[in-house]
Amino acid sequence: MTHPGAPREPEGMAPGAGGCADTPILRERGQREVFCGLTGIIWLHRKIQDAFFLVVGSRTCAHLLQSAAGVMIFAEPRFATAIIEERDLAGLADANEELDRVVTRLIQRRPDIRMLFLVGSCPSEVIKLDLSRAAQRLSQRFSPSVRVLNYSGSGIETTFTEGEDACLAALVPEMPAEPGTARSLLVVGALAEVVEDQFIRLFAALGVGPVRFLPSRRASELPAVGEGTRFLLAQPFLAGTARALEARGARHIPAPFPLGEEGTTAWLRAAAEVWGIGEERFSQATAQGRERARAALANHRATLDGKSIFFFPDSQLEVPLARFLSRELGMKPIEIGTPYLHRQHLAHELALLPAAAKLVEGQHVDKQLDRCREARPDMTVCGLGLANPLEAEGLTTKWSIELVFSPIQGYDQAGDLAGLFARPLVRREKLMV
Ligand code: SF4
Repeated sequence: MTHPGAPREPEGMAPGAGGCADTPILRERGQREVFCGLTGIIWLHRKIQDAFFLVVGSRTCAHLLQSAAGVMIFAEPRFATAIIEERDLAGLADANEELDRVVTRLIQRRPDIRMLFLVGSCPSEVIKLDLSRAAQRLSQRFSPSVRVLNYSGSGIETTFTEGEDACLAALVPEMPAEPGTARSLLVVGALAEVVEDQFIRLFAALGVGPVRFLPSRRASELPAVGEGTRFLLAQPFLAGTARALEARGARHIPAPFPLGEEGTTAWLRAAAEVWGIGEERFSQATAQGRERARAALANHRATLDGKSIFFFPDSQLEVPLARFLSRELGMKPIEIGTPYLHRQHLAHELALLPAAAKLVEGQHVDKQLDRCREARPDMTVCGLGLANPLEAEGLTTKWSIELVFSPIQGYDQAGDLAGLFARPLVRREKLMV
């Protein structure tokens, strides 16, 4: 989708933070080229296996979901769109009554649903449909068998990964209270199950635990939270969820994000330090994983080393990706655009970025396209809408959304992550022969 939205801070140069402290951050405002937060439903509905996502939106929202879901439409998908018709928009019908009817029918037909998310959209926001009141009303009616929550996936002023942040933040008040102050680790951010299982094994080998995950695989088994909860963010776009967890007494463990061998090691180390794990045990528990990651990365280094890369702001993964690609594979980030730059959560990442990289927060797509065309990078990371035109101009692109859909965290995914960047370059070289 194309949104004429504006970022939340004024345009201009501002001092950077962390190790990139000397690098000014360019703040831009203008037209943006991003998907909206509804996109998150595609990976969240696969992760939370007893939840259903009901978008309260328009036909456009339904089309977005269907095309984003692509081949993954099952016979009984766990997401749908309740279409707001013109007569709702004109205030001729009681949208709340219609919503109640749709939800009642859905819950009768789908007894497997334990949690229902009412997901707001641009149209529901425009007609000021109060989905939080609707969720309360419907929760009362259907509890205890179904809990009804709400969050917004609207494209007004948001980018697509904010949908996950809004969804997880909506889950936090539902998490049971942890009695006492016993220490536990909460890993926050939707991870592929294979990645989650690897981290479970690594934390067990380290002696860090108990370990829980948000979101949990079943909405009916949300992890407990309390004063003893320490949390690691697995994704860099979860500012709202982190705030909600802190409000419940949990404390954030600052760390880089678990991308690549270095990022994964630093992320695990941050938790190990909180648990007072000694260096010897840490090395023993991580040595094999580190070795596998380094060997897998070596396969891609020749392709990526020295290649320039340009990031359009899209997924909010841009800063950790740039750090990984520059430090572990020798790529040269020219410009790192990100929709929002959370200085605190990204402090460790910023400290590891090459000083020459230009940092941009927000987007003015025309200005950024001009800079990209002038720089002629070897690789451009951008949204789907920009990729085809840039390819037609002879630039090699990588869709940023693919990086959110793919398992990329942890030691055993480091090689796959490098491969996602190497493949388009190899393909172009072949085409040019
Ligand atoms: S929520 Fe807004 S931006 Fe997203 S598909 Fe619906 S109308 Fe488009």
